Amino acid sequence: MPRLDACLECGAEFERAPNREFCSVKCRKDWNNRRMKRGAELYDLYMAHRFDRANAQALGVFQAVNRMASNFRAEDAAERAGRRSWRATRAVLEERPYLRAVTTRMRMGRMAQ
Ligand SMILES: [Zn+2]
Repeated sequence: MPRLDACLECGAEFERAPNREFCSVKCRKDWNNRRMKRGAELYDLYMAHRFDRANAQALGVFQAVNRMASNFRAEDAAERAGRRSWRATRAVLEERPYLRAVTTRMRMGRMAQ
């Protein structure tokens, strides 16, 4: 009896295989397209939060970003039985080790203050 997993997109069962989370190419594309669309909606607000902080704070940008994430999650619950709509955090970070690198500033062989 093959071991089964549930497709992250449609919930259908499929035979478990390493690094496989979808029952079909269509489901993988649909899942990734939703991530791209949601990411594009978040991008401008997050960049303003990070690099135009005073304006973003005045406009309540971080609250809007959190509201957007909550709305995405509510859509997942209503339309996709709550299946996860984001990639595994560990996998995302492992693909980008530079994001966790610690930078140090050395000056004349000593740590800069
Ligand atoms: Zn599927």
